[in-house]
Amino acid sequence: MIDRRSLLTALGAATVTLGLPARSLAKPLPSGGTSRARVVVLGAGIAGLVAARELERQGATVTVLEARQRVGGRVWTVRGGDHFTDTEGVTQTVGFSPGLYQNAGAARLPSHHEGVLGLIRELGVPVEPLVNASRSAFLSDEHGTLRLREASYDLRGYLSQLLQEALRKGTFDVELDASTRQALAKFLAVYGDLGADGQFHGSPRAGLASPPGATPRDLQRAVAPRSLDDILAHPALPFILFDDDILMQATMLAPRGGMDAFPKALAAALRRPVVTGARVTAIRREGEGVRIEWRNAAGQPQATIADRAVITLPLPILAGIPSDFAAPTTAAIASARLADSVKVAFESAPFWEADQIYGGLSFVGGETGVIWYPSDRFQAPRQVLLAAYTATPAGAKAFAARPLDQQVALARAAVDKVHPGHGADLANPVVINWGKQPFSLGPWIEWGQDGNDPATLDRLNQGDGPFVFAGSHLSAYSGHWQEGAVLSARRAVSLLVPSLSHVR
Ligand SMILES: Cc1cc2nc3c(=O)[nH]c(=O)nc-3n(C[C@H](O)[C@H](O)[C@H](O)COP(=O)(O)OP(=O)(O)OC[C@H]3O[C@@H](n4cnc5c(N)ncnc54)[C@H](O)[C@@H]3O)c2cc1C
Repeated sequence: MIDRRSLLTALGAATVTLGLPARSLAKPLPSGGTSRARVVVLGAGIAGLVAARELERQGATVTVLEARQRVGGRVWTVRGGDHFTDTEGVTQTVGFSPGLYQNAGAARLPSHHEGVLGLIRELGVPVEPLVNASRSAFLSDEHGTLRLREASYDLRGYLSQLLQEALRKGTFDVELDASTRQALAKFLAVYGDLGADGQFHGSPRAGLASPPGATPRDLQRAVAPRSLDDILAHPALPFILFDDDILMQATMLAPRGGMDAFPKALAAALRRPVVTGARVTAIRREGEGVRIEWRNAAGQPQATIADRAVITLPLPILAGIPSDFAAPTTAAIASARLADSVKVAFESAPFWEADQIYGGLSFVGGETGVIWYPSDRFQAPRQVLLAAYTATPAGAKAFAARPLDQQVALARAAVDKVHPGHGADLANPVVINWGKQPFSLGPWIEWGQDGNDPATLDRLNQGDGPFVFAGSHLSAYSGHWQEGAVLSARRAVSLLVPSLSHVR
């Protein structure tokens, strides 16, 4: 059976065990500073870009060094013609038709991520709805395949019936007064769609055996209900609660045309352009300040001298860069272990729309986890289907260890299982193995798992002399959400602000 934690982590939901971030950091820091400090920011993911924006608002002169040829880090959108090479030297060229894309990393924004959404609004990045949950999609496991709406509403019907019976027989352990009993009975009848006899006989909420017709006689008929035992036998049943989670709302948001519109807009709004192709090779103290050594795209050594540095690099990458950090900082960085995650996407005609699915996810279990249906181009002749997004940490590791052609074959087979005959419709696969992406080496850190000690967070969030650390991995969001990167960046800059004011 899937526990709540697996449910949350299954799809990149957060490990929210470290306390919610302070509400005030969802808004920009007070601006108007007149500091003349020079600050170097390492990494142009969301944390680096937001830190640079906040520092510029303080008056600082900011240099952002980014190893990749693009900004955004784990916010990465792949389109036809893009090519990339993983750490094993395997190159993929994306074969999508023009206009199609897949968000390889971050893809969806919940409504309460006010830090990200505030910036998106401020920067004028157009957003569109993202349908994150559809009860027309499927729950599929070793016990069989059924629609999420059947699992949800049949279960609800039976539970309501059981509660009704207990009310009638007076077998509740708690005393309920007559008016509460009456009100509860009335509500349960509606909640479970019970018959006049208080029994559950099936509900059109679970699906229609025949749709309503043209004349009043052609009434809609509900699908026959499954038995309670049948529903309870599904190991994946808890996934009916997926969109009850605050982070996995049924309707979410996404920048139109790809998540990378957000980091691109952040970078475009900076006074000084991000230096891309700048791979940091050493992090040194120099006097009261810092000296950052890096290589440019041509491989030539460079150095940037600054008063302070904001460091947003993934910790296992940082661990491999020579530095002058204090010993406890070095030890904390070295202790961090990244998880893994894989996405496999294909271009296809939208055969799932014939199954009345528009957006949302089917939960398919196994190593491939889910099928995630697009919601950016409903009814367009070609769309991009995410056929696999590894669900559990163990599943992700096992899947990532397979050769690309096996990953593609397994993703295709998972689709074929739920949409028989359509595996063959899937074309132009692209596989994003996050554990093999240079300059990321993994999707996120699970604090409290894989030997990751949450005390590391405290240590790094204190900073170390002229160095402060930021990144979604240092927030309560554990690296799963851009909101963590925004909050962490603002927190890091707020740590720096008092010392910046001395540099005028
Ligand atoms: C598969 C997946 C799904 C996700 N889904 C969502 C989602 O739906 N919604 C959401 O909000 N978030 C999601 N996230 C999380 C979100 O993408 C991250 O939390 C966020 O983008 C992290 O930003 P960051 O700046 O902290 O780190 P990063 O984006 O990792 O930035 C670090 C930067 O440092 C650079 N760098 C590395 N080494 C060097 C070096 N030596 N020199 C210079 N630069 C270097 C990297 O290239 C990178 O640009 C997802 C992430 C993944 C991987």
